[in-house]
Amino acid sequence: MELPQFKRHRRLRGSAALRSLVRETELTAQHLVYPLFVDANISDRQPIGSMPGQDRLNMGSLRAEAEELARLKVPAVLLFGLPTSKDENGSGAWARDGVVQQAVARLKDANPELLVVGDVCLCEYTSHGHCGLLSGDGHVDNDASLPLIAETAVSLAEGGCDIIAPSDMMDGRVAAIRLALDSAGFAQTPILSYAAKFASAFYGPFREAADSAPAFGDRRGYQMDPANGRMAMDEVLTDLAEGADMVMVKPALPYLDVLRQVRDAVNVPVAAYNVSGEYSMLMAAVQNGWLDEVRAIDETLTSIRRAGADIVITYHAKQWAARQ
Ligand SMILES: [Zn+2]
Repeated sequence: MELPQFKRHRRLRGSAALRSLVRETELTAQHLVYPLFVDANISDRQPIGSMPGQDRLNMGSLRAEAEELARLKVPAVLLFGLPTSKDENGSGAWARDGVVQQAVARLKDANPELLVVGDVCLCEYTSHGHCGLLSGDGHVDNDASLPLIAETAVSLAEGGCDIIAPSDMMDGRVAAIRLALDSAGFAQTPILSYAAKFASAFYGPFREAADSAPAFGDRRGYQMDPANGRMAMDEVLTDLAEGADMVMVKPALPYLDVLRQVRDAVNVPVAAYNVSGEYSMLMAAVQNGWLDEVRAIDETLTSIRRAGADIVITYHAKQWAARQ
């Protein structure tokens, strides 16, 4: 008898049941985090022009939003705030009655089970739009920014945030936040650090959504160069040494290789942020009839999970969950 000359890979693709049986990567709502923009200046939900299907929320619409997330079984949100006023130091970030601090209370009131991740950064609150304090020469002053970032983290924990997620990319901020949280009685509050955050063109729509574009210059002095994968590992290991409980790679799709390297190198949960530009790009093609919405979103989120993300932060969270 003659032996087969080649392997028949197609044997395992013959039916939906067989394909499902051997599927390696599962996508479930339990791993999704939905980013929310809360705007203290508006009295109704407002569509974000560059992110079709996404809104900026007013305080009054948070209850309905929290209830919808519960219905859809999306377990977590990542909160961003648009304050009523901004200043040089970004003091709105740690105000007791700040926009995010108020929003957490409303979300928790409507849906106590909802996990609220508080984004820690100053750029939505500074008049110049940079992520930290400016020094005299117009540079972001790393060390002078740390106490303000730590104070913001404590304020968000006091407000009820379950997870603290620093996105500012200052050196030493995870250590500063851990120390501040511990001494304020929040030793049990985990830190999800935006460890490998690249200076990306794909943040464009977010800056419209969160009104956080820098008034001058850019963020390449503190966010990472898109060309550097090894340096991303260095950032991740530093944040873990400083006490991060989970680490993030941001953006997701152009950095799936980095995500995989991080996944292989560390044992903590790894998150990936499927950012605004990735969302807008896909949705623009869907609106033009160039891509099938359901399949494109499925494939996108699956690829991020396959690359190693435990947690996927995505604007598609509700869309995806609504179809399950
Ligand atoms: Zn920032």
